[in-house]
Amino acid sequence: MNFTKSQTLFEKAQASIPGGVNSPVRAFKSVGGTPVFIQRAKGAYLYDEDGNRFIDYIASWGPMILGHAHDLVVQAIQQKATESTSFGTPTELEIDMAELIKSMAPNVDLIRMTSSGTEACMSAVRLARGYTGKNKIIKFEGCYHGHADSFLVKAGSGLATFNIQQVPGVTAGVANDTLVAPYNDLEVVQRLVAENKNEIAAIIIEPVAGNMGCILPEPGFLEGLRLLCTQENIVFIFDEVMTGFRLAPGGAQQRLMVDADLVTYGKVIGAGMPVGAFGGKREIMEYIAPLGNVYQAGTLSGNPLAMVAGYTLLSELNKTQTHYNELDEKTLYLRGGLDSVFSKSGIPYVINQIGSMISVHFSDRPVTDFASAASANNALFSKFFHAMLRRGIYLPPSAFESWFLNNALTYEDLDLTILAAGESLLEIQQE
Ligand code: PMP
Repeated sequence: MNFTKSQTLFEKAQASIPGGVNSPVRAFKSVGGTPVFIQRAKGAYLYDEDGNRFIDYIASWGPMILGHAHDLVVQAIQQKATESTSFGTPTELEIDMAELIKSMAPNVDLIRMTSSGTEACMSAVRLARGYTGKNKIIKFEGCYHGHADSFLVKAGSGLATFNIQQVPGVTAGVANDTLVAPYNDLEVVQRLVAENKNEIAAIIIEPVAGNMGCILPEPGFLEGLRLLCTQENIVFIFDEVMTGFRLAPGGAQQRLMVDADLVTYGKVIGAGMPVGAFGGKREIMEYIAPLGNVYQAGTLSGNPLAMVAGYTLLSELNKTQTHYNELDEKTLYLRGGLDSVFSKSGIPYVINQIGSMISVHFSDRPVTDFASAASANNALFSKFFHAMLRRGIYLPPSAFESWFLNNALTYEDLDLTILAAGESLLEIQQE
């Protein structure tokens, strides 16, 4: 496979864009090599500037759950664009969107749209603080909730990929209000809450973690947090930016049968347009301006192109359970195929999966939290990533990211992926 044009573009990009990218993980810094410059995509395939085709397991980091350039979404955007791209006034479409979200996530009483997942999580935490009158929050090591200051403490995703322990520019005051517990460790959370009695405004968590690879909550963990939050008047926030509308129409709340007080969304909710949202219990949401004084706003929030794209995709997903069933079956098929080639190779590995989220860690012990994810052989992952890329399989360029399946993938694509995985492992072993 030839990457000449991507190499030239990467050189050029670095002259005007920090690191050549507008979001750090795209730079391939941890896996090495040149990022692939994509020109277009359709269905399950990405096409780069050199004319290479890739089977896509990133799905734009989640949104493209039914594949790229979905006909219904494209048509909706094209039609809407002729009516102007933004008004900065309320529109009927925003009501349709809010009502649709509420019908899919029944414990969401009120929902406010934002333009990114970061904004959604940042606003949800501000709201929790405003509502409870308390300052501290608890997050989990390896979880990523966007790049707002209070979340950049022991975070996953790019911070884990680049091993950034402390972010210059985040003040100690802000960082000190963020307490961190290991994922899946209820006891530590209980201790933190006891030590900071009446000081914790919120516990924010990815109900399935996708920013340190894919890590599932152990039975009882989320339920234990739920109980603790209720007992201690702590706002329980599910960051469903990855899991929302992906694991089920009602996201992780529905799939795992645990209710949060506030939920944040992103990715699928915007079908690839810049969208996020936060919502939840009316009693809490009523603290948001203009009803209350917890201020939160956005020039482009509820933008008509973004709303019509998201509304169209969510409506399609909400029509039947078929998309979710097919995604589950395809992901299980991939998992089974990967299991068979990985076990043949003799290389220690762990596959974590739920619904259409899956990841591979090269480890000989279960990966249940950040420490176990970080102790996996991530140098080996980098080799695997490149061997797969050369075979036309586009995985996330870091072991600290989940893979996302889209429903445009065919079983032939999955077979090609499994075959490529077997060949890649063999190539690595023969080095
Ligand atoms: N929360 C989670 C769980 C995420 O995965 C991400 C982004 N990967 C965010 C929040 C931030 O969303 P955005 O990049 O849209 O700001």
